[in-house]
Amino acid sequence: MVSAMPTLDLADVRAVLGDRTILDRVTLTLPAGGLIALVGPNGAGKSTLLAILAGLLAPATGEVRLDDEPLARLGDRARARVMGYLEQQPECHWPLSVAALARLGRLPHRGAFGSLDPRADAAAVEAALARTGMTGFRDRRIDHLSGGERMRAHLARVLAGEPRVILADEPLAGLDPAHQLEVMALLRELAAQGRVVVVVLHDLALAARFADRAILLGEGRVLADGPPETALDDAALARAYGVSVTRVEIDGRRVPLPTARL
Ligand code: ADP
Ligand code: MG
Repeated sequence: MVSAMPTLDLADVRAVLGDRTILDRVTLTLPAGGLIALVGPNGAGKSTLLAILAGLLAPATGEVRLDDEPLARLGDRARARVMGYLEQQPECHWPLSVAALARLGRLPHRGAFGSLDPRADAAAVEAALARTGMTGFRDRRIDHLSGGERMRAHLARVLAGEPRVILADEPLAGLDPAHQLEVMALLRELAAQGRVVVVVLHDLALAARFADRAILLGEGRVLADGPPETALDDAALARAYGVSVTRVEIDGRRVPLPTARL
């Protein structure tokens, strides 16, 4: 278990990019313990919301709090130790090995003169490589990997930091079905262990199947929020995406599959 279960709070957040209001009046409490899927059509503001949660983008109005402490008041290092942020389409422009990339995830835990605890650093890196199935890739160059392998290497970097909050923006992009299932199971497990885990997904079936809670963004706000079976009901999906769905039962959940544009 992770000590002290964290909670992220957004209070009446508005996001403005350029001269456009992207999100308005978003109020959410995101506790640890259950996997939270953030879904919504292209341009709904999912990445914007995730960057705000990560403390990388300041809201125009409103506030983000971590355990009742305004995120803006945490220093960059303190924030980086808590937050594991996996950006959409992460890039790495150096020919690093997978293991070297994962070690970068330990940077927020280092002191001014290097590692404070080399053994803890190495153990965290090995555990992260193992959990993402990347141990066998440790010496491979990151720029010589497939898109899905690269995504898992970046996930290893995030996990190596042992964050209490994990914010992953479309981490399944480029992953084959087996690795999609594996990463979803891993994210659910990380949440169950007492972390706040928010994952942006396009796959409604995987969201409904693995998430304990779905937050549906659209029209600049939260359209629905709750257990996937209610938040992602037919009416909500029709409104947000303009699609009809059929349902397939998997593991006792009625999982939506888009069938047609409305
Ligand atoms: P999503 O991740 O849900 O697809 P984003 O959060 O990336 O959506 O973007 C939300 C909206 O903000 C989109 O309409 C996008 O075009 C717009 N946007 C993103 N970045 C900027 C920017 N720097 N200036 C103005 N608009 C932007
Ligand atoms: Mg996005």
